[in-house]
Amino acid sequence: MRFENGIVATLGPTNQVIWNGSVVTDGEKIVAVGEAAQLKKQYPAAESVDCRGQVVLPGFICSHHHFYSTMARGMAIPGEPASNFVEVLERLWWKLDTALCDEDILLSAQIPLIECIRNGTTTVIDHHASPSQREGSLDLIEQAVRQAGIRASLCYEVSDRNVKRGGVEENRRFIKKVGKGDGQIAAMMGLHASFTVSDDTLAECVGIARDAGVGCHVHVAEDVADRDDSVRKYGVPTVQRLHKLGASGPQSLFIHCVHIDDAEMDTIAATGTAVVHNPESNMNNAVGVTPLFDLLRRGVLVGLGTDGMGSDMLAQMRCGYLLHRLANHDPRVAFMEMPQLLLQNNAEIAERQFGIRLGELAPGRPADMAIIDYEPPTPLTENNFLGHLIFGLVDATVDTTVCRGQILMRNKRLLTMDEERLAARSRELAPEVWKRL
Ligand SMILES: [Zn+2]
Repeated sequence: MRFENGIVATLGPTNQVIWNGSVVTDGEKIVAVGEAAQLKKQYPAAESVDCRGQVVLPGFICSHHHFYSTMARGMAIPGEPASNFVEVLERLWWKLDTALCDEDILLSAQIPLIECIRNGTTTVIDHHASPSQREGSLDLIEQAVRQAGIRASLCYEVSDRNVKRGGVEENRRFIKKVGKGDGQIAAMMGLHASFTVSDDTLAECVGIARDAGVGCHVHVAEDVADRDDSVRKYGVPTVQRLHKLGASGPQSLFIHCVHIDDAEMDTIAATGTAVVHNPESNMNNAVGVTPLFDLLRRGVLVGLGTDGMGSDMLAQMRCGYLLHRLANHDPRVAFMEMPQLLLQNNAEIAERQFGIRLGELAPGRPADMAIIDYEPPTPLTENNFLGHLIFGLVDATVDTTVCRGQILMRNKRLLTMDEERLAARSRELAPEVWKRL
């Protein structure tokens, strides 16, 4: 197919902005990127998709999501409002995840998958929990992901909170089933957080991950309570405890890392562990600000996730941009760094999980694209692309989403998911889930 006549921004190591550009795909891959007129001559038989008035970008990547958070939307939580992070978990998330079973799990994935497609997010690293129905839960999510047509790395968040070693078997089974993955589905070893897993559980999970060559996907020092718990029980802060038991390394994802000290940052850097920053979630839970620039200065690979807050990665990028400017009282920072997290670092994290290089429109790269309605009101070039990204594209609407060469949404109409039917069914089931809280 020829996706032509739009403004193509290739991103990658040398971003090129091509007006009246074209991206030609064949199957799951891109075969050519360049001037529309020239590529039309070169590939006359390819079907044309007109992208006039639109910007063509590589599909976005979300490095930390919780599909299962869907049914929390609009839910009334009985009792006093949670006043701290642990209460948020106890009163909201641990009640909701325990109430999910069967079709709820499937729908809780399908709805955010629709939102991913609507926002041009074509790759997601998800972290799932459904303690009442662990076994087979990752298969249900895999089924939803394959139907939607995007890519996802899946895991179950192991925790000792309901039952000892809850979720270990589901991860073991799914990791074995997926193996090295097929480029669309990958698997990780999921762990909730240091403060909800014992040394035994952690060691067992690390062993499974090591044997399979996958990383650990774990919340780290999101709130100071996680740090305090680790210091009190094990005599070392969170990162050092996880590192000592083998959970660090280039395949692993340490999520949040809000309450970490200099020595922990050095450990993260020395082990090549990736960190995922989720600014909206951190602000929503009022847990603090990730020391982003200290991590980046050490050469840590920091990516960007939504932590279940949504599936719009441009909005998440902009939120982080604003957060770090305010938190540092410095209007010079974050302009380069937040787009770097989203566009480059997330691609590198995805490469570690899926073994393929995303985030660039170039021959040989996967045909994953977000095509966005945008008429630039000022000149748009390689030199000022980030200005348009942060202040213009962030508020523009995604019109067409492509993943693995398949068009998942065209003219804002979803082609792989029946949005109306799924939302209606979710509205039917959500009150039943809420009754079980
Ligand atoms: Zn999370």
